[in-house]
Amino acid sequence: ALVVRHRIKSSGKWARTLAILKEFEEKCGTPISKLKQVADAMTVEMHAGLASEGGSKLKMIISYVDNLPTGWDVSVVEHCHILISELFVLGIKHDEKGLFYALDLGGTNFRVLRVQLGGKESRVVKQEFEEVSIPPHLMTGSSDALFDYIASALAKFVATESEGLHVSPGRQRELGFTFSFPVRQTSISSGTLIKWTKGFSIDDTVGQDVVGELTKAMERVGLDMRVAALVNDTIGTLAGGRYNNPDVVAAVILGTGTNAAYVERAHAIPKWHGLLPKSGDMVINMEWGNFRSSHLPLTEYDQELDADSLNPGEQIFEKMISGMYLGEIVRRVLYKMAEEAEFFGDTVPPKLKIPFILRTPHMSAMHHDTSPDLKVVATKLKDILEISNTSLKMRKVIVELCDIVATRGARLSAAGIVGILKKLGRDIVKDGEKLKSVVALDGGLYEHYTKFRTCMENTLTELLGDEVSDNIVIEHSNDGSGIGATLLAACHSQYIEVEES
Ligand code: BGC
Ligand code: MG
Repeated sequence: ALVVRHRIKSSGKWARTLAILKEFEEKCGTPISKLKQVADAMTVEMHAGLASEGGSKLKMIISYVDNLPTGWDVSVVEHCHILISELFVLGIKHDEKGLFYALDLGGTNFRVLRVQLGGKESRVVKQEFEEVSIPPHLMTGSSDALFDYIASALAKFVATESEGLHVSPGRQRELGFTFSFPVRQTSISSGTLIKWTKGFSIDDTVGQDVVGELTKAMERVGLDMRVAALVNDTIGTLAGGRYNNPDVVAAVILGTGTNAAYVERAHAIPKWHGLLPKSGDMVINMEWGNFRSSHLPLTEYDQELDADSLNPGEQIFEKMISGMYLGEIVRRVLYKMAEEAEFFGDTVPPKLKIPFILRTPHMSAMHHDTSPDLKVVATKLKDILEISNTSLKMRKVIVELCDIVATRGARLSAAGIVGILKKLGRDIVKDGEKLKSVVALDGGLYEHYTKFRTCMENTLTELLGDEVSDNIVIEHSNDGSGIGATLLAACHSQYIEVEES
C-alpha cells in the first residue's frame, strides 16, 4: 500500500509539473495573428515616437547620422564627400595611415579597437582589438570609477601602437565611441544618458554627457584623444552593414540586450526641427527594447523578473527577447516546478534560487543537446545548479522549457522586424517591383543560439509570405559596431575637410 501511495504521490507531482509547463506554454503562445498585432503595434509606436518627444515608449532617437558609409563606389562616407583614399591627400602626410580608434561599451565586456582605413580597394586595411571584462562592482558603482577603468584600458592599448600602425606625430588621436545604452544625442559627438539598461545601474551617470564623462576620465589618465562620434551599437552596425552592402535599411542587435535602428526619411520625422539633411535621410535609434504592448504574451514569470530587475517597468520587450534574460526566465519556471511540483525532489535545489545563475549560453547548450540521453542537459544541471540524478523524462521537460522561451523571443523579434519593414513600406511587393531590403543583424544571441536564429528567420518568412521574403535578406553584420563606429569617426574627423557638393 505504501508503494502504491508513493506512486500516486509522485505521479501527482509529475502531473503538476506538466500542468505548470503546459500553462506556461499557453501563455507564451505567439500565433501568427498575435505576431501581426505586435508588428502593427510596433509600427504605430514608431509613428508616435517620431511625432513628438515622449510620444511613445519607443524613444525613436535621432542619431545625427544622416549619411552612411557606402563602401562600393566611394570609399567611405558618401555624403561626407570624402574618399578615405583622400586621407592621404587632404593635408595629411603620405605616411599618415587614416588610423582611428573605437571603443565599444555595451555588455559585460568592452572592446578597444585600432583600425586603419585604406583606399577604395583596400577599405579596412588592418585592425587590432582587445577585449576587457568589466568587474561587476563597476557596473553598479560610480560613474568616475567606471570611466576611469575604461580610459586606463584604452590608454594601455594606445601605448601598444606599433611601427606600422600609429598616428603621425602632432596629430590628435580620434575615437568612435560605441555606447550601447539609450542616449539622447545632442550632436554626432555628444549625448546624455537617459537610463542604463542590461546589467548597469550607476545613478550619477544618468543625465550626464557620456562623451564628457569619458573625456574627463581620459584627461585624468593622461590620454589625449578626441571623441569624434558617439554612436549606439545599432547605428554602428547599420553603418558597417551599409559599408558592405548598399541595400541595408535597418540593423538589429540580438545580444545581451536588444535594439534596432533604421534609415528614416527626414521629412517623416515631425519632431526633427533641424535642417533637412542633404541626403534626405536620418538614422533613427528606436530603442525597441522598451517597446511594450498589451499584445505581448507576458507571463507571471516575466512580471516577477521585471519587478526584481535593476530597471522595473522598463525594457519589457528586451526582457522577453534578449540574452541577458532568456536563461533567467527558464530558471524562474524551473524554480516554480521545484517548489510547487517537487520537480527535483522534496527540496528546492539551493543553487536554483540564485538569480541569473542559469545564463542563456547554458540554456542554448541544453536546447541544442542532440544526444539520445540528453547528456549535455545532465552535465549543465550538475555543473551549474548542482542537480544530479535527473531522469531522461525530466531532462526532456527542461529542453521543452528552453524551446518555449527561445521560440517566444525569436518570434517576437521577427514581429519587431516586420514592424520596421511596414513602417518603410517594404513589407509588401509594390506593382511587382523587386525592392531588395537587407537587415543587418548582430549580437551574441543571434550569432551563437542557432535555434533562436533559425526560428526568427522562419517566422519572418511566415509573417511576410514567400514573395516578399524573397526580397528581404537577413545578413550577419560581423562586428559592425566596432568598424561602423570607426567609419563614423573617420567621417567626422577634424582632419578631414568636408567638401560641399
Ligand atoms: C540598449 C540599446 C542597445 C541594446 C543592444 C539595450 O539594452 O538600451 O541602446 O542598442 O541594448 O546592445
Ligand atoms: Mg556589441
